[in-house]
Amino acid sequence: MTIFKRKKLDKKSLKEFQQLLEKEKKELEEKITELNNKEKDMAIKTPDFMASEDSSVEADEVEELNNLLSLKLVWENDLDRINKALERIKKETYGICQKCGELIETERLKIEPAAQICSKCLRKKNIDV
Ligand SMILES: [Zn+2]
Repeated sequence: MTIFKRKKLDKKSLKEFQQLLEKEKKELEEKITELNNKEKDMAIKTPDFMASEDSSVEADEVEELNNLLSLKLVWENDLDRINKALERIKKETYGICQKCGELIETERLKIEPAAQICSKCLRKKNIDV
């Protein structure tokens, strides 16, 4: 049996990033709940918004609702990334670049704790795209 020694972050940093991610997760969930409530309120006020092209719906209300919805998409996407990062912490693969398998720089994780690739691969990706 070969002993496979995996690269990983030390326990202390892992714990710190976990706390950071959980805090962000909680904040995001609260913001999304708030947004959902707002959306419900607006749906009550403008029940035909989705169903008809009735011009009785105020244009700025439609715009506001659209803004809410796109903001929600962004936040839900963030939340998804955070959940995945938390899963990686559980599986002990957190902090490892999904592209090259090297450790992601701690400095980068501090700015973006849900990061999946290291800054080297990120730079490469940005050039590719
Ligand atoms: Zn990498």
